[in-house]
Amino acid sequence: KKSKKKDDDKDSQLKSPIVVVMGHVDTGKTKILDRIRHTSVQAREAGGITQQIGATYLTKEYIAKATARMKEQTSKPFETKLPGLLFIDTPGHESFANLRARGSSMCDIAVLVVDLMHGLEKQTLESLKMLTDRSTPFIVALNKVILIDRCLDWVADEGAPFQLTFQRQKQHTKQDFENRLSGIRTEFAEKGWNTELYFRNKNVKTDISMVPTSAITGEGIPDLLDLLIQLNEKYMRRQLRFKEKFVCTVLEVKNTIGHGTTLDVILSNGTLRKDDTIIVCGMPPQGTIITNIRALLLPSEASEMRERAEYKLVEEVHASAGVRISANGLEHAVPGAHMQIVPRNLKNSKDHAKRREEIEKLSDEVQQDYTNVCLFILLL
Ligand code: GDP
Repeated sequence: KKSKKKDDDKDSQLKSPIVVVMGHVDTGKTKILDRIRHTSVQAREAGGITQQIGATYLTKEYIAKATARMKEQTSKPFETKLPGLLFIDTPGHESFANLRARGSSMCDIAVLVVDLMHGLEKQTLESLKMLTDRSTPFIVALNKVILIDRCLDWVADEGAPFQLTFQRQKQHTKQDFENRLSGIRTEFAEKGWNTELYFRNKNVKTDISMVPTSAITGEGIPDLLDLLIQLNEKYMRRQLRFKEKFVCTVLEVKNTIGHGTTLDVILSNGTLRKDDTIIVCGMPPQGTIITNIRALLLPSEASEMRERAEYKLVEEVHASAGVRISANGLEHAVPGAHMQIVPRNLKNSKDHAKRREEIEKLSDEVQQDYTNVCLFILLL
């Protein structure tokens, strides 16, 4: 009994998995997230192309609602110890390899979006390489499969789980889908990957699970969310245990009305507090920036952080989270590298030498990390 209690305590410390959405331009990455959030970010993007990394947080209550129709399939109640999911959207356009590398470096799991009609494209292969190099687990969303213009005579059922809608299709529609699926599995096999539809996958650890989706009809979207929860819960608990060790990456440096220059960051582990002293990589010749957090702005649930989202002022935030930081002196901050905080026990320490030494060490780490990010991109 005692050990069960202990396990429960540990579980209550799980952080939300960070899920990065990758894939070739135009495969529907933003549209899938729009569908999940009930937003229309895709329509507002210049030329429909994502040019920044975005972040969206979904609580488990939100996911429970979004996957409610899965119960018709499984009759299992939705249950998870994970607090939620933090999604990161990356641009697919070829000139944004740096942003994709950054996105893939901080995620726990990835969704690789593939357009069934186009198969594996240039940035799909590049994404596959990034995921392999970092041994990141991933699933595949086979997007744009389900529209009537895609699979022969498909009868759409808005927002339905895939299996439910699939079993109701006519025989020749099913066959058409199977043929296309088989084609894409062959393409993956040629690149050395075993793949399988997620509900037929008996070897989850070796074969990549695929979820057919339509960002337009919402079919398969509940499956995608449900699968992400299941896989993280089952195979990644250890990795997702909340730790105080601080890990945080700067995504963007931008102006926010009323706050001046701000940083959008992804907190992957640890806690960030208002009044923390942060150490951020700065453009030469200025070098490292050391400044105090003036305000922490948390975007509201299921909103896209890079949009003009509504923000709530908070005193502290725990990983995983996307959060905006307001502070003095951020004008020359560079995005892409890790950010550090001065240990709180040293913040007001009289031992100036020790404090200086620690800050120097952390500054070196921040600069080194930036060099590593640049090198990684060069080597791609
Ligand atoms: P991204 O570049 O990967 O973020 O792709 P977008 O989300 O910008 O989508 C590219 C285009 O594909 C847009 O015109 C979308 O409306 C369209 N699209 C996205 N998902 C689907 C889908 O499931 N079915 C169909 N038919 N079109 C889609």
